[in-house]
Amino acid sequence: MSVLNQKTIKDVITIHGVGLHTGKIAHMKLKPAEPNTGVIFKRTDLKENNFVIPGVYNVSSAAFSTTVLNDYGVSISTIEHLMGALYGMGIDNILIEIDNEELPILDGSAKNFVNEINKVGIKTSEIPIKIIKIEKKITLEDGVKSISIEPSKISLDIDFEIKYENSLIGTQRNIIKVYETDLTDIYASRTFCLYEDVAKLKKMNLAKGGTLNNAVVVKDNKILNKEGLRNEKEFVNHKILDCMGDLYLSGYKIIGKLTCSQGGHRLTNQLLRKVFEDNKNFSILEVKEKKIPYTLIKKRYLKSIA
Ligand SMILES: [Zn+2]
Repeated sequence: MSVLNQKTIKDVITIHGVGLHTGKIAHMKLKPAEPNTGVIFKRTDLKENNFVIPGVYNVSSAAFSTTVLNDYGVSISTIEHLMGALYGMGIDNILIEIDNEELPILDGSAKNFVNEINKVGIKTSEIPIKIIKIEKKITLEDGVKSISIEPSKISLDIDFEIKYENSLIGTQRNIIKVYETDLTDIYASRTFCLYEDVAKLKKMNLAKGGTLNNAVVVKDNKILNKEGLRNEKEFVNHKILDCMGDLYLSGYKIIGKLTCSQGGHRLTNQLLRKVFEDNKNFSILEVKEKKIPYTLIKKRYLKSIA
């Protein structure tokens, strides 16, 4: 099985649950799709104009979660955890039917999506994937926040740092190689917020579905969730999951090295927009060769195309 061929899921996956921000219950069906379909959402509660294709340029809101919008004003929100799971697992083609405007938050992480995909299995096609290779360094700054992406040889590295005044969260940094690192902890890391922000979010009509079952809540130097943290770097690891999901709005695998300090959905989206502004910033590789053993690809083949 080649990691360089397009993949889909082997069977239909059914998931339902409450949306973090809207508090609305949504039922989802994840369905296998043909090569070159990409990731497509379909709002089954609407009769027409109900396809939403997630992309860099149709992000309508990236303040607290990522929302994508089609030309008819139909939106799907909080797509980033599912998108992160799909990106990490190499799912290129999938149809996601959903009967509401926001994806279920489930446990606040991508763990359930990953488990369900593993249960049905992954089907590899004969069609090669496309890869975006970053050719030039692009940097964005917004006050204390910064993000950059630069060329790398064969991997997508994400180096992410958060800095919180809250002493329990504090400064956390993690560096992963998306195609090589074991992503179990990344997938399992949950959304988090400060206790004092919960009331603010509710006032803004957000986090209506938020509970301790789908978010880590930190009050002073205590975690309010009885079970505590799932891994030592859960906070920054969740930001990395978000980042992977937001990068997948590019539609392809990326070869590059991303470095981010205190960024989030908006900054990642702005970075991608800046990359695609000028076609000298990137190139698109299509890998023709098929069925190379996975271990060889990482060592030899990707190097030869990079
Ligand atoms: Zn998130």
